[in-house]
Amino acid sequence: MAELIDGKRISTMIKDECKQKVEEYKAQGIEICLAVIQVGNDPASSVYVNNKKKACAYVGMNSLSYELPEETTQEELLSLIQELNERKDVNGILVQLPVPAHIDEKTIINAIDPKKDVDGFHPQSVGSLCIGQPGFVSCTPAGIIQLLKRSDIDITGKHCVVIGRSNIVGKPMALLMLRENATVTIAHSKTKDLKAITRQADILIVAIGKPKFIDASYIKDGAVVIDVGIHRNADNKLCGDVDFDSAKEVASYITPVPGGVGPMTIAMLMKNCVDSISLQ
Ligand code: NAD
Repeated sequence: MAELIDGKRISTMIKDECKQKVEEYKAQGIEICLAVIQVGNDPASSVYVNNKKKACAYVGMNSLSYELPEETTQEELLSLIQELNERKDVNGILVQLPVPAHIDEKTIINAIDPKKDVDGFHPQSVGSLCIGQPGFVSCTPAGIIQLLKRSDIDITGKHCVVIGRSNIVGKPMALLMLRENATVTIAHSKTKDLKAITRQADILIVAIGKPKFIDASYIKDGAVVIDVGIHRNADNKLCGDVDFDSAKEVASYITPVPGGVGPMTIAMLMKNCVDSISLQ
């Protein structure tokens, strides 16, 4: 029976460390401010944006909130980003994704000053991660590294299989595990015989976007299983990409959904905002 990796506890630890740093900066006369932009009123995005504002208040950071109407043009959004790039009192800029279809996501991400790119999605941030230079790292994968380290799970030399190759989770996750000296395999929708590969994993990170796809038959005895997925089932209950009840019987450690990877994303966003001071 697997031991639970407690994302709630670890994320609170990280937020409390941020709170401490924010206080230290305040004592030196430095305030930290995150600007959050939402275009349209997608209910899931509104929940995420609210949680980010609450986290800023918890750690003692300032937040600016821009709730723009659905019909905002790309030019209007770009001009707001430009204004925030230039403002000395704004340290981090975050555009809640997805943006409406008439706005090009890549153009928006590229417009954010890499020094304020606290989501870690700008090509310069991704490139820095790739060649081991300082820069912002995408919050969800960075949070998973913290979950492993703070649960005393050794990464060096371990075979890590990441399922999923998205720019936000899979790819940066694989790069981070490589940086931590794991031997890394990336599996994706075109991978042949997925099970044969996942069963070799000492650490299996699942970001496949399909509810309860990975059951015990995909998992080596004693493997560490990290479930990135978030889905709401018909009864409005949350579940992950991993079939938790089956997987927990073979894994040594496992993240639950909710309470595993989810809370780490916002905690790492707070950490990126705090770190922005030294990068700027
Ligand atoms: P995505 O849809 O962009 O990527 C899914 C990946 O899975 C793709 O790269 C695809 O190649 C791969 N895949 C799909 N079917 C497969 C199959 N049958 N076999 C092997 N690989 C397959 O999703 P994403 O943005 O990377 O997110 C993944 C999951 O994580 C989603 O459930 C999402 O909601 C969740 N998520 C959670 C957080 C968090 O804070 N906890 C953050 C981001 C994403």
